[in-house]
Amino acid sequence: MTLALPPRVRLVHAPTPLERHDALDEIVGARVWVKRDDMTAGAEAGNKLRKLELLAAAARERGATTLVTCGALQSNHARATALVAARLSMKSVLLLRVADPEAAAPPSTGNLLLDRLVGADIRPISPEAYGERVALLEAVRREIDEAGERAYVIPEGGSNGLGALGYVAAMGEVREQLDVGLGGGSSYDVVVHACGSGGTAAGVALGAAHFSVARAVRPVVVCDDAAYFTRVIERIAAEARGHAPELGPPVAIHCDEAARGPRYGAMSEDQLALLVRVARATGLVLDPVYTGKAMAGLVAAVARGDIARDARVLFLHTGGLPGLLAETAALEGVLAP
Ligand SMILES: *Cc1c(COP(=O)(O)O)cnc(C)c1O
Repeated sequence: MTLALPPRVRLVHAPTPLERHDALDEIVGARVWVKRDDMTAGAEAGNKLRKLELLAAAARERGATTLVTCGALQSNHARATALVAARLSMKSVLLLRVADPEAAAPPSTGNLLLDRLVGADIRPISPEAYGERVALLEAVRREIDEAGERAYVIPEGGSNGLGALGYVAAMGEVREQLDVGLGGGSSYDVVVHACGSGGTAAGVALGAAHFSVARAVRPVVVCDDAAYFTRVIERIAAEARGHAPELGPPVAIHCDEAARGPRYGAMSEDQLALLVRVARATGLVLDPVYTGKAMAGLVAAVARGDIARDARVLFLHTGGLPGLLAETAALEGVLAP
């Protein structure tokens, strides 16, 4: 099963490990394999790097000198983009959402520290302005092009059809691991992962079908709701198939909104307790914005019977460590021994 994809810049240290943790099976109540995409690289690691392999190649092909993107203040995607730009001798401009753009500069912690370290041009924007992010990104493109440089705009999360193909390739990587006996069988019942802009889910659903890796994907959404993401993922998947016409339809996509927590970036007490429990039982470090909620969603889905007790689950660990390291205040209360 091969597949022709558009050009990629090699950034991911592949294959990422596929791990078993007996203690995690006990916590979840199903058989779980963890795909360690938090280990796609060093400081730039996480799921965004797989999308950036295709997006950076397209940027280079167009002769871009500057990558432009957007996200939350502690965006993993913006940080990965800034680090990749530095790696490829490009500049980066990041439109980052903050409560009050006029307030004093936020402290350099977590992802923001890394953005600043590599010299990204950081432009704080209000939540209202963030609603117009597509137009704002376009305005930055014009500004850069008029200054004699060449901008390449990457949408929020790197989530367009081209970026999503990084996760089609990732499913091909899992196929090879299964074929040599590293995945404990010939396929999985379901892939579970955190979903925040839909590109990972679209690529996983297409790739799982093409490479017969799993029968379904369960994106655990961390914001908006299941109906919204079902539409977004379908749109991105259709766009991705335009770039890789050999791809057939995706596997079943069951968006799960039950683990969104109080709001984007904040966890419930139960979710925080699970994050701590998993870390102590397995050494796996989850984050409060994405992977901790994905794990909470997986545990709840098995408890409800939406995922069978004996199911074979591929849990995609998408990264997020720098975001965790910026959350010292929220975590202090749950760190008692
Ligand atoms: C961005 C991100 C996700 C969500 O992926 P999308 O493709 O944006 O849905 C999940 N986990 C982590 C750690 C992320 O940074």
